[in-house]
Amino acid sequence: MTAQTPFPAASLLGYPRIGRRRELKKAVEAYWAGKIDAAALDATAKEIQLGSARRLVELGLDEPAAVPGTFSYYDQVLDAAAHLGAIPARFGNLLTDEGVLDIDGYFTLARGSREQQPLEMTKWFDTNYHYLVPEIGPETDFRLTSSRVVEEFQYALANGIETRPYLVGPVTFLLLSKASDDAPAGFQPLSRLEDVLPVYVELLGKLAAAGARWVQLDEPALVVDQDIPAEQLDAAVTRAYEVLTAAVERPQILVSTPYGSLDGQLGALAASNIEALHVDVFKGAVPSEAALAALGSKTLVAGVVDGHNIWRNDLAASAAVLDALKGSAARVTVSTSTSTQHVPHDVAEETKLSEQLKSWLAFADQKAVEVKTLASYLADPAAAQAAIDEASAVIASRATAEGVRREEVRARTAALTAADFSRSDYAVREAAQEAALQLPALPTTTIGSFPQTSEIRSARARNIKGELNDAQYEQLMKDEIKRVVDLQEELGYDVLVHGEPERNDMVQYFAENLEGFDVTVHGWVQSYGSRCTRPSILWGDVTRSAPITVAWAEYAQSLTEKPMKGMLTGPVTILAWSFVRDDQPLGETANQVALALRDEITDLEAAGIKVVQVDEPALRELLPLRKADQPAYLKWSVDSFRLATAGAQDATQIHTHLCYSEFGVIIDAIDGLDADVTSIEAARSRMEVVHDLESHGFGRGVGPGVYDIHSPRVPGEAEVTELLSTAVKHVPSRQLWVNPDCGLKTRGYEETEASLRNLVEAAKAVREEI
Ligand code: GLN
Ligand code: ZN
Repeated sequence: MTAQTPFPAASLLGYPRIGRRRELKKAVEAYWAGKIDAAALDATAKEIQLGSARRLVELGLDEPAAVPGTFSYYDQVLDAAAHLGAIPARFGNLLTDEGVLDIDGYFTLARGSREQQPLEMTKWFDTNYHYLVPEIGPETDFRLTSSRVVEEFQYALANGIETRPYLVGPVTFLLLSKASDDAPAGFQPLSRLEDVLPVYVELLGKLAAAGARWVQLDEPALVVDQDIPAEQLDAAVTRAYEVLTAAVERPQILVSTPYGSLDGQLGALAASNIEALHVDVFKGAVPSEAALAALGSKTLVAGVVDGHNIWRNDLAASAAVLDALKGSAARVTVSTSTSTQHVPHDVAEETKLSEQLKSWLAFADQKAVEVKTLASYLADPAAAQAAIDEASAVIASRATAEGVRREEVRARTAALTAADFSRSDYAVREAAQEAALQLPALPTTTIGSFPQTSEIRSARARNIKGELNDAQYEQLMKDEIKRVVDLQEELGYDVLVHGEPERNDMVQYFAENLEGFDVTVHGWVQSYGSRCTRPSILWGDVTRSAPITVAWAEYAQSLTEKPMKGMLTGPVTILAWSFVRDDQPLGETANQVALALRDEITDLEAAGIKVVQVDEPALRELLPLRKADQPAYLKWSVDSFRLATAGAQDATQIHTHLCYSEFGVIIDAIDGLDADVTSIEAARSRMEVVHDLESHGFGRGVGPGVYDIHSPRVPGEAEVTELLSTAVKHVPSRQLWVNPDCGLKTRGYEETEASLRNLVEAAKAVREEI
């Protein structure tokens, strides 16, 4: 092994890589568009890496290996695949003559090519970040096909900073992979562990040779209940770290386990020869004394500062956790629970937030300082006392600050009874809605948004800058709504939408119009690749001071005799895509949002709206990682949707929309939402979902999407007819709706019009058959 150096007393598990001003997003997209060359992209990437490293050193993370080498051009799981040679055969040869996957090959895996779909993308643990899913088969030719982590390390070192290279660890890498298309049935990627380990060993050797004294191998899959037997998982962990620690030349190894409790897997890691183990003691449980004792001489890296949310750390509480750990582990150092890639860079950048709110927050840079402070506490409690007292004072003042608790909101939630969560029997509602709406069989509708054209976006930008006054902006939006309504009339849709042109984002729009929220200016976080979102901050009790969507819906309804859908974002999705207060259970916050939406529905009804859609595309996103925690989540999330919608009259048709098709564990919950009509994604999975619906006996309206809006491709009439014909074989035709997979905001008008036309024609054709 290379020269020893103790694990840094203060470190971050990872840092945002998109850049303080989203420089990486801009550079990568410019590169894809052919506007800059690879050298310019590389220069921007280096600037971001070095800028971030220098910033962290300046903030106090100045020990060797304290700065995480977590930069990525696109995604950390893709990075692992790129280093390990896990390149699906379907892409043909993407390697250069030297056997290297260069940046173009890398982006081909991420974005696909003319002939090939990209790697599939899916949610990274319980976050809003999405990773690319490697495809592994018996034939995958594992070998070192990139040494970018080595080069990145060398570059920082040459500039005076010894970073800690990061790689997704072997067990997590294989558990997150899926079997490639050519693999035999039942093939498990984890069965290739023996073949992937030598590549890690080779890479560790190169890192050691470059001078790295610590490496971080990330194993978050160990905090999730996996579908394989515990013994098999244990054996894989044991074997993996037996091989890696036996490498002749290697840095010292930190294994990190963010996103929850390590539970059963702690034993296998404690018994291994790794030098340091990170545990998430913010979200996860504090391990028992016996478990800590089993670590022997390993350093315990305590993830006490939340990497996933933005609230200022309760330093006194963290100090207490550290005290408890200190007694049982050989050496304790301080870190974040997860990478800070899930939070923005720096609170100080925010110009529009009040100083009070800012004092409650910690973005990545503030978290670096918190970690440093807690490390100094471990070294000398007195040294950190002033900072701890200050944090305690701020947290105490937050509890009593205006708007954090609103008595009228509290009184209302306290008075809720079971009746507030239920509507009449579906049979009663169905009859009332049939009479009120008079829809044909297989009614046609869309999911809400129509293409957000550059004119719409530029009108909004000009309105914010003051170049368009509010009246002018409103008129432009009304013109757009009229166009969208006329188009749907012309195409022959049965239930219309207004197209959502006035919404910048389906959550932020509501956050801006409800009390208890604030929005940031620079608070971008990466959601996948070059895509970023800017979550709103939900800090106080939520109320609605005035109707939000009613005037738009009323105007849209005035343009047509057909029913116009009111369009709302559901409570769970509003929470899932915001940074949510951490001082009360999520279910309580969800119910406050639900009551605001409930009032909005009442006002929509009064304005003549007969159909209201409450979107919950994120219902599955917050599903806890451990199975034992899932029922409680499903209870409060379903309840909050029911609370939002149960005030509707029998004759008001409540729709909901979900953006995915793997229903599995949550089909009961979806049924429990008790929506009159549920639209779901189905086109990409060729209507597979109708089998689930059939076997579950789903009894209300359902619209499996027949137009995949994620691509510009126009589905032909025959194709849609076939999908609908499949659907009517499994779902009674009186329940079936015809609609696209999701909203149309990312599409262009040309393909949208052609596709929507085919949907109507196909619906007509299938109506003849039934
Ligand atoms: N109503 C929203 C839209 O049509 C739904 C978006 C979503 O499901 N993500 O855009
Ligand atoms: Zn959707």
